[in-house]
Amino acid sequence: MTGGPPRFRPLAVVNDARCLAHDTGPDHPEAPARVAAILDRLTAGPLSGVLRRVRPRRAGVEDLLAVHDEGYLLRFEEACLSGASYLDHTDNRLCYDSYEAALVAAGAGLTGVDLIEGNVSPLVFCAVRPPGHHAERAMPLGFCFLNNAAVAAAYWRRHHGRRIFIFDFDAHHGNGIQEAFDEEPDVFYSSIHEHPTYSFPGTGYAEDRGTGPGRGATLNVPLPPGAGAADVARALESQVGPAVAAFRPDAFLVAAGFDGHAADDMSGLAYDTGLFGTLGLHVAAWAARWAGGRVLCLLEGGYHLEALAAGAEAFLAGLALEAG
Ligand SMILES: [Zn+2]
Repeated sequence: MTGGPPRFRPLAVVNDARCLAHDTGPDHPEAPARVAAILDRLTAGPLSGVLRRVRPRRAGVEDLLAVHDEGYLLRFEEACLSGASYLDHTDNRLCYDSYEAALVAAGAGLTGVDLIEGNVSPLVFCAVRPPGHHAERAMPLGFCFLNNAAVAAAYWRRHHGRRIFIFDFDAHHGNGIQEAFDEEPDVFYSSIHEHPTYSFPGTGYAEDRGTGPGRGATLNVPLPPGAGAADVARALESQVGPAVAAFRPDAFLVAAGFDGHAADDMSGLAYDTGLFGTLGLHVAAWAARWAGGRVLCLLEGGYHLEALAAGAEAFLAGLALEAG
């Protein structure tokens, strides 16, 4: 211990103004201000000296087809270009520029993988929108159109053969990520979320453990409304940590959602800001132990701007904290 201020490892932040052009209208919680709030907070705070801003590339159709149906991609693009205001459900608001924004958001994860595998930065945070973890193979859901996390994991697996542990701490179950890798034994999906009986999208029961060859490579930890830091700490110690050790991943992908904060009315969970710092510390320790420090993080939910920005900063500070 030096007794000085905390020191942080370098952190690449992938983001692009095109993600802000996804206009969901005046009354929609998934707003451009979310990303702006996070970036303002990061650049003004203790991590500012270690941030490296990187612009993403666009995801190519071949990258998206690993996760999505071609017909769905055409339907989504057509909806945007034709002036539609939503796709399938009014939750999924869009505008002319939304398809481009979604390609960039999905491409950010690919750029993140390239940064990690090119030894440019082992820690990457993609501050992008629209979010992705609810998007299914042929269906948008819950503000999500393309499954950014699943597209990145499929790319990582295909091009680098990594054994990937996906950890999703958004307040809601990432049904789309689970669906994408349900039968995949080399990509583990673990989510801590508000119990599906009480919460959108109504999936993510503890009984769901994967299918066929993927059986055992899914771990859902549903929590009751009002659950907080102690409940999450218990889940990390007794369930998620042991699952990481048993799976022995060599890469981590984090679906980072901050809507479990008590101030965020999108869930009944009662997390505090410090809990997100604890999550960052856990992921960093797992990654150091198993995965050469490789961690790719993608922004998912979080709709209370102050809690979102503070939570993201706390998580990333925990993740990047210099050990020792
Ligand atoms: Zn959420």
